[in-house]
Amino acid sequence: MKMKEKMPEKSYAWSKSIVTILKLGGSAITRKEKQSTPNTGVIERLASEIKKANIKPLIIVHGGGSMGHPVAKNFGIKEGYRSPAQLVGFSKTHYAMVKLNELILDALIRRGLPAVSIQPSASVMTENGRILTMETKPLLRLLELGCIPVLYGDAVLDTSLGFTILSGDQLASNLAVNLNASRIVIGVDVDGVYTADPKLDPTARLVKQLSLGELRKLKTKIGVSRAPDVTGGMLGKVSELIPAIEVEIPTIIVNATKPNRVYKALKGEKVVGTVITAGE
Ligand code: ADP
Repeated sequence: MKMKEKMPEKSYAWSKSIVTILKLGGSAITRKEKQSTPNTGVIERLASEIKKANIKPLIIVHGGGSMGHPVAKNFGIKEGYRSPAQLVGFSKTHYAMVKLNELILDALIRRGLPAVSIQPSASVMTENGRILTMETKPLLRLLELGCIPVLYGDAVLDTSLGFTILSGDQLASNLAVNLNASRIVIGVDVDGVYTADPKLDPTARLVKQLSLGELRKLKTKIGVSRAPDVTGGMLGKVSELIPAIEVEIPTIIVNATKPNRVYKALKGEKVVGTVITAGE
């Protein structure tokens, strides 16, 4: 009879400082201009790239795009509780994210990856939109076992607002800081951070390398997303990333709608994108 395999040792230390955080933007995994439409082609390809890259330990966080944002906006979920009529909107926003999460889980699991969903609305509480508490013990245990926790931007409970929207970017940055992640890879629907919104300004140039100081200066030129986005587009994204970059976690923003960009970023290979590092 086969001996029972030993469970991996419990050692929180190893999971810190070597974990990679991959954020898959809603702009890439859904069709942002078309309400409630996942981009299954991109989801399937990204799952293949994640499988091929074989990065361990890995945490995936994804956004909502056209699945999450329009419903959250309709019910004013980000602004907090004002009337009981919003409650079904809170449910619908969370449910839309669960459905998108299921597609991602399905694509990963079909490729043999041990992806396990972690529900932010049941493990995080915010205060005025900022993460106040987060239960990370199960997440750390999943990492130790060799699983891939998959989290997402979600409708969450808020101590002062009643409820609000927690962006996948805030979640990714917060996890990176708290687990002292080795790096953050962010996938969006543009090649990286530009001098202006590339969808509105044809003269916008891709900035391949950004220091924290330069990023702070550029912030005035970075716009919000054109599609309904309750978490602030690229401006919201880079603002959320600043705390992680401040503690010297290298961050790269790449185009997840183009083949192999996320794969190359995960492997640490040279790739088109914006690398953001600490310093002035
Ligand atoms: P996601 O939903 O994938 O997290 P967002 O839609 O929130 O991404 O942000 C990406 C969008 O931000 C891009 O599609 C782009 O149109 C917009 N954007 C605004 N300003 C900039 C900029 N300076 N550089 C890059 N993208 C920008």
